[in-house]
Amino acid sequence: MITSSISTPATRKPSKSEGLKERSNYLREPVATELLQDTTHFTEEGIQILKFHGSYQQDNRDNRVKGQEKDYQFMLRTRNPGGFVPPELFLALDKLSEEYGNQFSSIIKNMGSTLGACGDLNRNVMAPPAPYKNRPEYQYALEYANNVADLLTPQTGAYYEIWLDGEKAISAEEDPAVKAARQSNGNGTTFHDKEEPIYGQHYMPRKFKCSVTVPGDNSIDLYSQDLSLVVITNASGELQGFDVFAGGGLGRTHNKEETFARVADEICYVAKDDVYDLVKAIVATQRDCGDRTDRRHARLKYLINDKGVKWFSEKVAEYFGKPLEAFKPLPEWKYFDFLGWHEQGDGKLFVGISVENGRIKDEGSFQLKTALREIVQKYNLPLLVTPHQNVTIYDISPDIKSEIQGILDRSGIQAETAIDPLVRYSMACPAMPTCGLAITESERVIPSILERIRASLTKVGLEDEHFVVRMTGCPNGCARPYMAELGFVGSSPESYQIWLGGSPSQTREPIFVYFKQKRQQSESFGDFCDRVGLESIRQFVTNHQSADSMTTEINELDVTSSNGEENETATAGGGKVRRRISVRDEIYNELKEEAARQGKPITQLATEAISTYLKKIKEEGKFRPK
Ligand code: SF4
Repeated sequence: MITSSISTPATRKPSKSEGLKERSNYLREPVATELLQDTTHFTEEGIQILKFHGSYQQDNRDNRVKGQEKDYQFMLRTRNPGGFVPPELFLALDKLSEEYGNQFSSIIKNMGSTLGACGDLNRNVMAPPAPYKNRPEYQYALEYANNVADLLTPQTGAYYEIWLDGEKAISAEEDPAVKAARQSNGNGTTFHDKEEPIYGQHYMPRKFKCSVTVPGDNSIDLYSQDLSLVVITNASGELQGFDVFAGGGLGRTHNKEETFARVADEICYVAKDDVYDLVKAIVATQRDCGDRTDRRHARLKYLINDKGVKWFSEKVAEYFGKPLEAFKPLPEWKYFDFLGWHEQGDGKLFVGISVENGRIKDEGSFQLKTALREIVQKYNLPLLVTPHQNVTIYDISPDIKSEIQGILDRSGIQAETAIDPLVRYSMACPAMPTCGLAITESERVIPSILERIRASLTKVGLEDEHFVVRMTGCPNGCARPYMAELGFVGSSPESYQIWLGGSPSQTREPIFVYFKQKRQQSESFGDFCDRVGLESIRQFVTNHQSADSMTTEINELDVTSSNGEENETATAGGGKVRRRISVRDEIYNELKEEAARQGKPITQLATEAISTYLKKIKEEGKFRPK
């Protein structure tokens, strides 16, 4: 029997959050009490527990005025396994977005929920946004995404007590197999005496992310998930079981080398009847062995990285109660965004609509928000929100296709073929002004960055080229930049790290020239960077003089660190040494000019200048290190 207790290395105390969770009486306090008080915002403790209810307290950072109270607001995350949004919920959300300040209950009463959309528990479970009715594997992926979400939904009554006066208003019935699996005792996976049979009173050490997909379809970024299931069917399309991946995750912290993005490992295969026990076994392993002393080190990826896949698999097998089966071979992964019109396989159609950076809005002649409302209201159609921040509308009869296309056309919504692929495959997180953790802009500046990349590509004769660009306002990586071919990660005000397994600053255009000269047939930009390697890219960039780099907007320097290693863009799975110096714009511009004149990278020139200065003050006896 495995003991299911809070994981705390003997020498270290559990983090503050563990005490908060313990004192919260299964997520009730202090939220319930503070809601009754006449204040404009929650306390720090209230904020932490509120996250489990699906809401982040934030403030509009554009409106901050020194000495005045912050402009508080709340960001809600809705719970949508597989991205499913029934028409009622879409219309309720649309209305809520107009009537700023409405309550949670509008969401819950319209077939939605925000419970568990944030906090230290299982988050939204992803599935490919493709409702093919004639491809059973896609149906299984959506079905099991929903079931895994149900299995791991918190059972506390706090949510309904606080937001719905105790009335439970969930309309969809749980699969009986899920209900039974939640209660079944798999070798210490279940707490029979607690309000939370799977989580216990401390919930998970940190957030936990799952996805379910089909072989070959990586529209859900499965390597970035804590736990992924891949549907395995037989030749007749009947479900047999699932391949299981675990230990992916993207969040990291600048200048903390012990934090890093990590890709998930192949763990095992599990037969369909055992899948919920296996999911519980993995959750229990992380619940009981994950690091609860340091929240930066609390994700499953660190447990697997520290202890190894072998240890992890053995531990999971203990909770599972039998040996794990060998992982089954899978075909190569591909990314699909499912935009445009598709046959659904049952005589109906679905249409994928691009939503730039996930922002459903009306702006001038571009009327996406109004168009979606009109379509959903008029035809009562369900939607899937996609892992790439787009929307799929489905169950469309062919006889209304032209009417729907007419609404899209007159609302200024481009066909997928008319969108620049750089834009189509890009993604940015919200960042400023809403996200409290944002260090830099993201969603608001990515259009101009993409324009400059397009201009650079055109300039070097790669006008038809495109690749995946993603941007975030901080290293938490919500738009999954570390999996992109070119990732921008906010690192200090108005500065970004560049992630491509390549060169860190002012080098985009030379890299594109190198790419053009040396790529293999049909090789993508990301594959090219991976093949030639950082050294080779750096060498080329050093020898290539470009007077027109993009660095006026990305003015950050990476300089040589004291141990002689040149800083570089880290690759997923690694935490390499980085040292950074930010300088004022005018100094930066002068450095840039001088670097161009001397034909050196800015980094090199800055390093030389700094080392000359240090040498001088040492000689003058003014250098006094601690
Ligand atoms: Fe906020 Fe973007 Fe950072 Fe996520 S990645 S925490 S949305 S700034």
